[in-house]
Order: sequence, then C-alpha cells, then structure tokens
Amino acid sequence: MTHYEFPTPQPTLPHRDRWLSVKRGFAGACPHCGQGRIFGKYLKVLPECAACGENLSHHRADDLPAYIVLFLVGHIVVGTLMTTDPEGLWPIWIHMILWPLMTLLLSLALLQPVKGAVVGLQWALRMHGFGGDEE
Ligand SMILES: [Zn+2]
Repeated sequence: MTHYEFPTPQPTLPHRDRWLSVKRGFAGACPHCGQGRIFGKYLKVLPECAACGENLSHHRADDLPAYIVLFLVGHIVVGTLMTTDPEGLWPIWIHMILWPLMTLLLSLALLQPVKGAVVGLQWALRMHGFGGDEE
C-alpha cells in the first residue's frame, strides 16, 4: 500500500486570496494583477499576462469548466422549462426552438468565465507550477 502525503503549505509564501483570484479569472482578468487579460481567443489562455508577466501556461483546466457549465446550464434550463409552462399550454415548436437555443447560448456565454475562474483558482492554490518562483 502506498502512502500519500498531502502537500503542506509553504509558510514563507505570501497569501493568495482564492475568492479574489476566482473573481478575476471569471472576469477574464489575470488572477495575479487583475489588469491583464488571460484569454487570447475564446478559450485559449495566453502564455503570460501582458500587464504583470505572470506565467499562465501552468493552467490545467482540462474538462472541469465544461462539467461545471453542464451542471449550471442543466439546472437553469430545466428549472426554467418546468416553471414557465407547467400546464403544457405552449405549442411544441416553441419548446423545440427555445430550450435548445437557450442551452446553446448559455453554454457559450458561461464557458469562458468558468474556465477563467478555474484558472484563477488553480493559480490561488499554487497548483500545476503556479507555485511561483516570483515570490
Ligand atoms: Zn497579470
């Protein structure tokens, strides 16, 4: 049986505010300075912040943003669907257009902010090389 040791936080490193980093990432801003942008294209994270030079290439968001968006959009769309027409009075063509369109637009709108928030959280937790040799 292998023994796993959890990494101990380094007491000499400065504190990184997790909530602030998540909020900055959600807004598409650098989790370190909050000034530079982190996305070069829709979901392409820039290798470094243009404002402060923070290395952003360490992020490993992978599929987590998609899972979070799936969870959020599913609850929003199904909840809205069940409360807007509980008696089924709307014609079926409205449902066939409205809910897939709402799902698509919400997913596209939320994917970049959620990925930014995940990158911000990884930075704040010093994951995947975000430990920082700058400090
Ligand atoms: Zn920055």
